[in-house]
Amino acid sequence: MRPNGIYCFNFHRIGDAQGAEFDPNLFSCTVDRFEELLRFFSTNFECISIDKLIQMRQNNTPIDRRYAVITFDDGYVDNYKLAYPLLKKYQLSAAFYIATNYIDNPSIPWWDEAAWLIKNCEKGAIQLPSWLEPINIDGGAIEDSIRDILRKIKTDSQATMNEKLAQLRLNAKITMPLKVKSTNLFMSWPQIRELAGAGMHIGSHSCSHRILSHLDKEQQVQELVTSKERLEHELATEVTSFAYPVGGTETFTQETQSMVCDAGYKLAFSYISGIIGSFSSSCDYQLRRIAIDNNCSIADLKRILINCKVVAS
Ligand SMILES: [Zn+2]
Repeated sequence: MRPNGIYCFNFHRIGDAQGAEFDPNLFSCTVDRFEELLRFFSTNFECISIDKLIQMRQNNTPIDRRYAVITFDDGYVDNYKLAYPLLKKYQLSAAFYIATNYIDNPSIPWWDEAAWLIKNCEKGAIQLPSWLEPINIDGGAIEDSIRDILRKIKTDSQATMNEKLAQLRLNAKITMPLKVKSTNLFMSWPQIRELAGAGMHIGSHSCSHRILSHLDKEQQVQELVTSKERLEHELATEVTSFAYPVGGTETFTQETQSMVCDAGYKLAFSYISGIIGSFSSSCDYQLRRIAIDNNCSIADLKRILINCKVVAS
């Protein structure tokens, strides 16, 4: 059995990654697997909301058992259609982190367009101008090729995301048809309001989902403040938590964390793996999570938890 702590689980999309039109690696698990996981969380943890987590943090409540927090990043419509009914069935609260631009102006996000270009182009490799070497596309393991190329695009800070996407379109020699471009991937404001009304927590995942550490200070503040205002305007309630886009160690800095605090958020999630073993004020804006991906089974999850570090947060 794993130690006491706060286990914050993170999902992106629910559904079948097989044959997905866009980024297959964003599918955390199928809907059946999701239900198994919810049963596992309900049986083995005390499942708590973000409000309860904030309250525990403020009161320095001792972490004397295993707590679970369920979070979703990006605001895909399958969260509403597939995850929400099951969360209601098991009477569980989850947090949904929304990148507000994609709700205001539905469009295909950069990672999904990049995945589509990689999957549909007829080239054997991709190389953007700043890359020293091309990255091969292996049709037999397209998920891996998409993951490798997206990882490279994310870490390359020499160009803006729009520039890199334009470079990728040129290099892949293919453009997304209008019919594909108009696919509705994200929740609408009425759907998000319905989640909030049913006791789900809604947090900010920035406006544009750009990597904050690649932006200047003014742009970062704008992403943090404007997304909070948009959500608060639409939901008529205070927005108290944030999740960093992409969320790895290189995607936000110490300065970013201060800006998140100054913008009025009470806590922020990273995508760095770990279990919260105790509270510490230096970590309120870089809380660890446990990623659920690759259609993770209960047995897979148990293995992940055995290897997961317990840290002060
Ligand atoms: Zn995200």
